[in-house]
Amino acid sequence: MNITSRWKVVELGRRRKKVVHIPKKRLPKFFSCPRCGKETVKVELFREDGHSIAQCSSCGLKEEFPVKPAQGEVDVYCMLTDRVYGPQKRTPITNVKKE
Ligand SMILES: [Zn+2]
Repeated sequence: MNITSRWKVVELGRRRKKVVHIPKKRLPKFFSCPRCGKETVKVELFREDGHSIAQCSSCGLKEEFPVKPAQGEVDVYCMLTDRVYGPQKRTPITNVKKE
């Protein structure tokens, strides 16, 4: 009786191709403003000059930051929130825990 083994071969032979859809992660064009709370902050990168401008079109908040090649819009936005909220929310680098 070879029928069962034959069927197994057939089953293996028709493996379905897995179609994997990788959703493209889109960066939000606008970030929420740390000052006015609206999603109107636009980050522009000027990589050639190594600087960037974060600007809110709602309340007029505008800050310039130096950017490293590895940094992106999100990093600039983080620097913006840091500057607006102040350094108190930052984790102090000098305060390293010693165990
Ligand atoms: Zn704003």
